[in-house]
Amino acid sequence: MLALRLHPDRRLRLHAEAVPVPGPGQALLRVSAVGLCGSDRHWMVDGGIGDAVLRSPLILGHEFAAVVESGLLAGRRVAVDPADTCGTCDLCRRNRSNLCQAIQFAGHGATDGALRELMAWPEDCLYPIGDSVGDAEAALIEPLAVAVHAADLGHLGQVGAGPVAVVGSGPIGVLLVALARLAGATTVIAADPLRHRLDMAAAFGATATIQEPADAVRSEAILAATGGRGCELVFEVAGESAAVEASIEAAAPGARVVLVGIPSDDRTTFTASVARRKGLTLKLVRRSTPDAFRRAVGLAESGALDLARLVTERVSLQDAPGAMDRFIARAGLKVIVEPGVPPSTAGR
Ligand SMILES: [Zn+2]
Ligand SMILES: [Zn+2]
Repeated sequence: MLALRLHPDRRLRLHAEAVPVPGPGQALLRVSAVGLCGSDRHWMVDGGIGDAVLRSPLILGHEFAAVVESGLLAGRRVAVDPADTCGTCDLCRRNRSNLCQAIQFAGHGATDGALRELMAWPEDCLYPIGDSVGDAEAALIEPLAVAVHAADLGHLGQVGAGPVAVVGSGPIGVLLVALARLAGATTVIAADPLRHRLDMAAAFGATATIQEPADAVRSEAILAATGGRGCELVFEVAGESAAVEASIEAAAPGARVVLVGIPSDDRTTFTASVARRKGLTLKLVRRSTPDAFRRAVGLAESGALDLARLVTERVSLQDAPGAMDRFIARAGLKVIVEPGVPPSTAGR
């Protein structure tokens, strides 16, 4: 079976490897679709994420769908939770398994991910999906679950009409825009340096879009879009210091600011006096929870969100290395790799 590995020299290489053997409680999966994510981009560009550094060739890919080949769910199409947690610690038992200290996350550190034809993964992490959800959409349930979890941390259900701002309009930012509209916010402001991302945010319901560079984004335009009153809730999804600063400045007194972005230099800074005087609540997001994942499956099946619209490119596993330059340049929004599709017929 073919597997795509990122080597410590930051090059991707295809390898022919043995079919994985499922361990106890695991099933063999035939991977159907894998979404590439900003965190994969960190591995490719920075050689790691925060203090996790690439030391040996790693198979990336944590947003994925598959057909189950063995075990209780054999034959079913599933969305896959990439977080393999212990299930027994205090955090796991309180639906906070995203914070489990024994977590193994697909495509991170020493745990291989889904950019391959076959993989073994715990049956507990498999969520059967209805036929109304395509493979690419099923692969996007994981980032949707991250957005659902971030929305939970921001108490999105309590902000009413808003205003809500989303600083950074990559796929998770766009999904947060959509969730804010579904929650009833009537003013949802999206900021991003790239016009095509803002167009996507508008398609998912952003009522105002602000085009400013992520490393120099300022709060003035966001505040102006709120009529000067500030935002009840701000999601920072860019991972840039300027975006954090602008998020803090654009927040109304007593607001929540949810930091979703991953800073490349592993530092988050902002002006303390601005945050303190407004008594802001800051929340940091660590991936997602099983509860959020279940709700994301429900949202995908309900059709309330047009997940397929996020997909801007589909490539085979063999063609994936060639697509990475465009992915790294953020030319599109969501790139989907389809390991079951032969090369060069998938570029459609
Ligand atoms: Zn991701
Ligand atoms: Zn645990």
